[in-house]
Amino acid sequence: MTTNAPAVSRTLVLVKPDGVRRGLSGEILRRIEAKGYTFAAVQLVHPTRELLAEHYAEHEGKPFFEPLVEFMLSGPVLAVVAEGHGVIPGFRSLAGATDPTAAAPGTVRGDLGRDWGLKVTQNLVHGSDSEESAAREIALWFPAL
Ligand code: ADP
Ligand code: MG
Repeated sequence: MTTNAPAVSRTLVLVKPDGVRRGLSGEILRRIEAKGYTFAAVQLVHPTRELLAEHYAEHEGKPFFEPLVEFMLSGPVLAVVAEGHGVIPGFRSLAGATDPTAAAPGTVRGDLGRDWGLKVTQNLVHGSDSEESAAREIALWFPAL
């Protein structure tokens, strides 16, 4: 019996407004399930500016912060808590690089995203980048979990 398997953890995934608008929510959820992860929560959310400012607090003051928040307010977001061994890096790997133009084929951003002349703001998905971020973000988006 091997003991070095990564722990079961949870990550926050967001299908951003561009993904919801383009009808890609199902395709993105399908890829998460096909990888073998499970869902602990799925909810369509109309986020407030305050929630987004908290969510993206690490980017406050950067030139893309305001446009990013405006974009995230442009339509509903599908918020998902996904669960599984290694799901935090595993979903980041499914999502691909931040810039959809550079993201590898086979990834969500690489297969489905592109540069719409808006740099890399519209890149379909968010995924937590660490255990600490995941815990913080899940508490923000799903206070009842
Ligand atoms: P990731 O979502 O891959 O973790 P970051 O945490 O660095 O990327 O950035 C958060 C989000 O901010 C990105 O997903 C993207 O929507 C947006 N973003 C990041 N860098 C830029 C940039 N240089 N210009 C415009 N938007 C950006
Ligand atoms: Mg990030």
